[in-house]
Amino acid sequence: MVRPFVFGTNFKMNQTADESAAFYRQLATSLQIAPATHLFVIPPFTSLAAVNEVAGPPPHQIWVGAQNVHWAPDGAYTGEISVGMLLALDVDLVLLGHAERRRYFHETDVELNRKVLAALSAGLRVLFAVGETAEERAFGVSTETVLRQLRIGLHGVAPEHLKKIQIAYEPVWSIGAGGTPASPEDVEPIAKVIRSGCAELFAALGGEVPILYGGSVDPSNAGTFTALPDIDGLFVGRAAWTVEGFIATYRAGSRGVEESRRDQ
Ligand code: PEP
Repeated sequence: MVRPFVFGTNFKMNQTADESAAFYRQLATSLQIAPATHLFVIPPFTSLAAVNEVAGPPPHQIWVGAQNVHWAPDGAYTGEISVGMLLALDVDLVLLGHAERRRYFHETDVELNRKVLAALSAGLRVLFAVGETAEERAFGVSTETVLRQLRIGLHGVAPEHLKKIQIAYEPVWSIGAGGTPASPEDVEPIAKVIRSGCAELFAALGGEVPILYGGSVDPSNAGTFTALPDIDGLFVGRAAWTVEGFIATYRAGSRGVEESRRDQ
């Protein structure tokens, strides 16, 4: 079974609505998307309406993602955004479990599980991020950490919703400007652990879930990660915040995927 190549970026708290829409427009007109490939862009909430206008009605060639969602359908949750609000803007995907949400906003595994289930039951795709901190790595509990995040975060996911899930492995120590880039040798064993965690949770269907790597990816190293047998895509921050950077990193990642598919 060949899993799709999934590639995209999260703008975090960067880019106005006009800037995000211009990015999406330029990307959509500059790139020929290869078969069995899914691309996504995750701008801030305030950009979603403008990007949606450029993207037109779904299905979208380039998935439009949101950076968070609340689990409740509505209610007294000041500052939060519901699944219904995202669907009204034709959002395709929601990012859940990003290290910055876990760290700065104290999102717990259990809360993330509620969000995952709410998003999936409404038909949204989920990009679920897992990864150990530098401290957890130093104490030798990377495997335990990632498995706990996976087992709790994806607890109760129905088999029919699995096609809507992609997992991003993002070692926290490797992401952002202060991060130390991971090597493919660091990533390979944890990707294997995630793959076996998916098999434990979803039996044979777990083999169909795409696993992305994220953390200081750029055109120089993208292909080294996608050449790994359990890595099916890339989740990129800084290097993909310009259209040129997005395309260069995507192309480098695609070359690694081709290599890995040839070897299978
Ligand atoms: C991230 O923060 O999810 C990320 C992958 O960032 P960067 O690529 O900039 O390390």
